[in-house]
Amino acid sequence: MNTTKYIFVTGGVASSLGKGILAASLGKLLQARGFRVTNQKMDPYINVDPGTLNPYEHGECYVTVDGHEADLDLGHYERFLNVETHKVNNITTGRIYQSVIEKERRGDFLGKTVQVVPHITDEIKRNIMALGLSGHFDFVITEIGGTVGDIESLPYVEAVRQMKWELENDCLSIHLTYVPYLAAAQELKTKPTQHSVKALQQGGVQPDILVLRTEHPITDNMRRKVGLFCNVSPNAVIQSVDAKSIYQVPLNMQQEHLDEIVLRKLGFNLSDVREADMTEWNAFLDMRDKATQEVHIALVGKYVQLHDAYMSIRESLSHAATYNDRKLVLTEILSDELTSDNAADRLRGYQGIIIAPGFGSRGVDGKIAAIRFARENKVPCLGICLGMQCMAIEFARDVLGLKDADSSEFNADTKHNVIDLMEEQKTLVNKGASMRLGAYECELLSGSRVNQIYGKDVISERHRHRYEFNNRYRRMFDEAGMCCVGINRKADLVEIIELRDHPWFIGVQFHPEYSSTVLRPHPLFLDFIKAALND
Ligand code: GLN
Repeated sequence: MNTTKYIFVTGGVASSLGKGILAASLGKLLQARGFRVTNQKMDPYINVDPGTLNPYEHGECYVTVDGHEADLDLGHYERFLNVETHKVNNITTGRIYQSVIEKERRGDFLGKTVQVVPHITDEIKRNIMALGLSGHFDFVITEIGGTVGDIESLPYVEAVRQMKWELENDCLSIHLTYVPYLAAAQELKTKPTQHSVKALQQGGVQPDILVLRTEHPITDNMRRKVGLFCNVSPNAVIQSVDAKSIYQVPLNMQQEHLDEIVLRKLGFNLSDVREADMTEWNAFLDMRDKATQEVHIALVGKYVQLHDAYMSIRESLSHAATYNDRKLVLTEILSDELTSDNAADRLRGYQGIIIAPGFGSRGVDGKIAAIRFARENKVPCLGICLGMQCMAIEFARDVLGLKDADSSEFNADTKHNVIDLMEEQKTLVNKGASMRLGAYECELLSGSRVNQIYGKDVISERHRHRYEFNNRYRRMFDEAGMCCVGINRKADLVEIIELRDHPWFIGVQFHPEYSSTVLRPHPLFLDFIKAALND
């Protein structure tokens, strides 16, 4: 069987039901059966990418190796499948329109009236099929963001309808809905599901599989009833009961035979396909279950009110805790509230401190106070991106005596811009206009702690920032024991700093959190947690 199969995942009734986790779980199961799988996310908003979105609006902005600012679901895909995603894995309505309008301006449509159908829908289909036509994948799982029935989703549903019509046996649609439990009546209600399927059918798409998200197990009777009203065979109506961890969901879906149903409906002969080998995944979950001792970590950042804003950091820490046989207890601390007077009180007792990435000056003083506390009290501390920049500023101010050291992001007039764009760096980073995005190589100084941690001399990590460490101060830092141990040789940029006389104090200009996966936890987080346990 060598044609690519396309699976579409839509959602109904409510948002936040976990379409991304469902799509990633199915991807995992098919991959564990030996197939080559990729997951794609369609976001129906007009922003060209989520790079400019406030994390409060849409959670964390994830970055792919090829430098695309993407939806956080791509993080789930990578963490589950251990396969890198790229720009094509995340499409937005803004991107679709942008490219259609560019084509129109170029005259590609030869004077035709440009319309939602067929031009926008064709562009959506082209972007889905680009993955299939690459020849790299047996399955392309495309998640349609938003909820069926939204005006924004219409062109996507229409594209799915057309693909199902054109590639009949190679397409399958899965609809995820919610079955609410009415406590007063002690009953699960399927009516919203029926309505949501109706909305999908109105768009001409008949779901092949229904996944019902529920807090209580659904009965066979309910499966039959939903199946009958929605034109879906009852054995293709499956439940997704709330799981204690997102990493449990692939196993729950396996128990419900989701992968089997998908394969059968797509014409596979199950005796030709091997069972999903989830041994390593199970081992990870076992370790997680067995870890009862806690490790207490503080995450200092300015978007702490929203759970999703630091998604990849949380997940990376939780992978690392599991592999260290610990249960992660993560406390998010609002950097705006920290001062040099209260930092000790607020941060005492944590075994490790993470200084979060961020943009703009809000909360920076709090981050600097937290860093000083960690440095002076020898608490393991990892600074990520802005966190690393704040580590440099704090050190310059307190140890090097450069009292007005700052970043030109916050203060363009200060004399000692430790983090600043240097003349020679402007070729790589256009000041203020574009960011350094995606994976860059970094050489590790031999004998440094990071060299030991990675067990490599050259690494590649993902970036998302505008400002760079100012090389004018490199020597001073090195001589004072804050060593510049990770260097981008091509552009001569400082990527990692580490403090010599400290149990674990490392700042990284890149984002290691984007590349920690369940089966390949990131060495920096692993070692950070290990250090946190050594108190
Ligand atoms: N605001 C900083 C910069 O642009 C850091 C960005 C980040 O933490 N991702 O360089």
